[in-house]
Amino acid sequence: MKITILGNSGPYPRAGSACSGYLLETKNHKILIDCGNGTLSRLLSIIGSLNELDAIILSHLHSDHISDIMVMRYALGINQEKGTITKSIPLYAPRDPEDTYVKLQFKNAFIQEELMEHSILTFGDIRITFKLMSHPVRTYGLTVEENGKKFVYSSDTKYCDAVNEIAENSDLFLCECNLLERDRIEDAYHLSAKQVGEIATNARVKKLLLTHIWPEYDIDELLNETRNHFSGDVEIAAELESYEI
Ligand SMILES: [Zn+2]
Ligand SMILES: [Zn+2]
Repeated sequence: MKITILGNSGPYPRAGSACSGYLLETKNHKILIDCGNGTLSRLLSIIGSLNELDAIILSHLHSDHISDIMVMRYALGINQEKGTITKSIPLYAPRDPEDTYVKLQFKNAFIQEELMEHSILTFGDIRITFKLMSHPVRTYGLTVEENGKKFVYSSDTKYCDAVNEIAENSDLFLCECNLLERDRIEDAYHLSAKQVGEIATNARVKKLLLTHIWPEYDIDELLNETRNHFSGDVEIAAELESYEI
């Protein structure tokens, strides 16, 4: 499988950047994971038509992870009527907050299905499972497995047992890294670079990618703080870069 980074900023973009969005591709499937502001245009530059998408998974309903769903639904709903989009796209998301979940739909753009912690999605040989993270709205970390390979996406979370558990032995761990340790306050709902490094070490992660970067940070400082706590392969998730797993 292959993951392409559509945006790596959070909770708002740096100039020329986009917020959370990741395209997961296998031989026969294309799945969009999160759809933050700025990601739709980049997605279309890769797949050409939204007919190519098999599903969309929203890890949680914060704006930096869903903003472009609100315009993608116009592309889908209107072009379904014109006949150029030939299907409704399955959209999986937690139903929290309820009013945001309901607002995602436009005409017949999506086939909406509520994500639960016990949900299991399969697409060919890919199996996707979910774990509840610690964040102000219901938020799921994703584990994607295919032919013995494991890709994990933390979504947004503060430090918790769940994020340590899902990272365990992952071949690729795409982890939010929104803070430098010096800026982390006790009730922060995001991880510091130090914490991400410690999680990756404890979980024996093979390759670590940092995402959901605070736009004002010096990226090298963030990377260095992580490297002080993780001696393995780590880099910033580069926008429009693809990573094979
Ligand atoms: Zn976020
Ligand atoms: Zn969030």
